[in-house]
Amino acid sequence: MNNINLLDKRICTGCRMCEQICPFEAIKIVKNAEGFIEPMIMQDKCKMCGLCAQNCPQLNSNKINAQMQVVYAVKNKNLEERKQSSSGGAFSVLANYVLDNNGIVYGCALNNDLLPEHIAISDKQELHKLRGSKYVQSDTKNTYKEARKDLNNGQIVLYSGTPCQIAGLKAFLDKEYKNLITIDLVCHGVPSPKLFRKYLDWLEQKYKAKVIQYEFRNKEKNGWGLTSKIIFSNNKIKYINASIDPYYNAFLKSDTYREVCYSCKYANENRVSDITLADYWGIQDKNIEFYDENGVSAVIINTKRGMEIFEKVLPKCDYVVSKISDVEEKNHNLKTPSMRSNIRNDIYNQLDKKEFKEFIKENLKFKPNLKDILKNLVPTALKKQIKKFIRK
Ligand SMILES: Cc1cc2nc3c(=O)[nH]c(=O)nc-3n(C[C@H](O)[C@H](O)[C@H](O)COP(=O)(O)OP(=O)(O)OC[C@H]3O[C@@H](n4cnc5c(N)ncnc54)[C@H](O)[C@@H]3O)c2cc1C
Repeated sequence: MNNINLLDKRICTGCRMCEQICPFEAIKIVKNAEGFIEPMIMQDKCKMCGLCAQNCPQLNSNKINAQMQVVYAVKNKNLEERKQSSSGGAFSVLANYVLDNNGIVYGCALNNDLLPEHIAISDKQELHKLRGSKYVQSDTKNTYKEARKDLNNGQIVLYSGTPCQIAGLKAFLDKEYKNLITIDLVCHGVPSPKLFRKYLDWLEQKYKAKVIQYEFRNKEKNGWGLTSKIIFSNNKIKYINASIDPYYNAFLKSDTYREVCYSCKYANENRVSDITLADYWGIQDKNIEFYDENGVSAVIINTKRGMEIFEKVLPKCDYVVSKISDVEEKNHNLKTPSMRSNIRNDIYNQLDKKEFKEFIKENLKFKPNLKDILKNLVPTALKKQIKKFIRK
């Protein structure tokens, strides 16, 4: 299948559009050496129709949705939901609206192995599974096909994911559906599930118990920020700041992303979805009254449809109008892709070759400093009290 240029692996996002659009089921999804999924064409089944390459969002220009760009700083009024969300809980407000109207919400949940994959929910009881950022690439499985079925049945569908996943969905559907709402995230980049699983296995060895729950963005100890919460099978709970965690630290330094993330075509203001969500980092510098330690979302409305649904949920939110330039100040992925670090190659070359403990030291170049370790022991609220006391 050499003349269908589907497989320049360096530019593949692993969205699975090609697999799902193929009428001959000639594309199989396999894991590459780094642990990212990618398509493989089965020569014996391929009829050379070219549908995969003609629709691939990476090989073709994307339909940019941005008809407008209205930006808000948003806090979900439901404090419990907001506390369980990564930023201001804007996703939950929108998802609740769709579920209240008998719709279906697609998004990323952790499976039994604690690896992210896309699922569909129709019941609010399940919304907790989609809440919260999982900083690992999610497998969209066959959700594009499932979503198309729901859309053809006339149901309202909210599909959420990284911008490349939304581009994949749109390329797969290849027509406008009035009952579809898409949400993407401002995305830093995605590490491989294999790396994440190896990290979890290392945690299990270190703490001598199975990890049964993992949250990247837990607010119980330090409020809105980058603290993970890990629950082990022996009921022990660990809260770990990103600065002292090897996986999280490498994620934030852009050391571990899928190759294509470093040239991401969606890392700019031209959005592919109806609504883009992000953390409103730096809101305290723009509007101190609106800042809240339980989190604030930046909500970027890109289309009329996005605005229609957002207007419906406004009573459930505290909000102020903002500007894209303000959000961009602390969110460089709205302007440019993350920078490829010079240790990225070695990380994935060495992943299978070393004990993870060694790999952390030698390849993730991870050496937490004492100050960060001590900081992790003290909850943020207490730190603030101490600082106040010292200032007096
Ligand atoms: C890999 C990744 C990188 C991100 N990078 C940035 C960034 O650089 N700057 C920034 O401001 N915000 C970033 N975000 C977005 C941010 O973390 C929040 O998701 C966003 O602010 C929405 O938060 P919320 O409180 O409204 O809802 P939440 O409940 O926290 O959001 C949940 C939503 O995120 C989706 N989601 C979670 N994990 C994944 C995943 N692995 N793949 C696809 N979709 C997923 C869920 O399906 C759901 O739609 C990133 C998110 C992810 C997943």
